[in-house]
Amino acid sequence: MTATNAAEGLLLELGVSEPEDLDLEAIAWHVGVKVNYRRLDGCEARIIGRGDRAIVTVHEGLHERRKRFSLGHELGHWYHHRGKSFICRPEDIGSERQNVPVAEREADRYAADLLMPWFLFRPLARQAKTASFDLAKQLADRFQTSLTATSIRLVDANVFPMILVCHGNEGRRWFKRSKDVPERWFPQNQLDADSYAFDILFGSRSEHRPVKMGAETWFDRGEAGRYELLEQTIKISGDEVLTMLLLTDGEMLEERETRGRTWR
Ligand SMILES: [Zn+2]
Repeated sequence: MTATNAAEGLLLELGVSEPEDLDLEAIAWHVGVKVNYRRLDGCEARIIGRGDRAIVTVHEGLHERRKRFSLGHELGHWYHHRGKSFICRPEDIGSERQNVPVAEREADRYAADLLMPWFLFRPLARQAKTASFDLAKQLADRFQTSLTATSIRLVDANVFPMILVCHGNEGRRWFKRSKDVPERWFPQNQLDADSYAFDILFGSRSEHRPVKMGAETWFDRGEAGRYELLEQTIKISGDEVLTMLLLTDGEMLEERETRGRTWR
C-alpha cells in the first residue's frame, strides 16, 4: 500500500489497513487535535489552533456520518491552513457548489482522502461487477460516509465510466464525470420528461434499479441517438435528485475529432 496524498500518508503511518480502522478521533489526537461535540449555532464545525495544538468543535445535532465528514474537514484545515481559525457553515462543508472558497474545497478533499483513502476504496470498488447506488450504499456503510460523498468518490475512483448528476426543480445543480468519460458528454441542464429522474423529482415514481435508457434522454448531441446507457436515480432531499449514468457502450468512450479539436 502506498500513499498518494497527505491524508493517506498519515493513515499508513498509523497502520490503518481496513475501513473499520478509520477512528477519526484517534487520528485527530495523533495530530494534536482535541475534539468536542456540543451545540453550535450558525455553524456546523470550527477549529481554533495555537502552536501545534488545536480544538475542533463539531455540532452535536448532526447525523453520525456528517459528524465524521465535518471532523475530517476541520482536520483538512489543520493540515492545509495551520495557524488560522475557521468557522464552517453547512454550505462550506461537502458542497458541490461552484463558488465555494478554495480553502473549503481543500478541506473537503482532505476529508474525502481521510475517510475514503484510495488504497482501501479502489480495491473494494474494483471487486464490484458494476456501479450502482447499491454499490455506493455498501461502500458508504463500510466507510461510514454519506451516500452522496461516497457516490462522488466512486466517480473520482474512475473504476467505472460514469457520470453523477444532481438536479433540483430549477435544473442541473452539479455533475461529475469519471476520467475515462470524454468531455463531450455534458448532461443537459433540464431533465428530459422521458427520464426516470424527471418522474422521481416531479412525479410519484420511487427509487428503481438501473434501467436502460437512450443516451439522447440525457445528452443533447446528434450521436447520442445511437447509444444506450444505464440510469439510476434516487431522491437525496425534498427537492433534489441524484442520478448515476453508467456508460455501457464503449463507443461513447472513444475520442472524437470535432473541427480540429480533440474531444476527450
Ligand atoms: Zn471549513
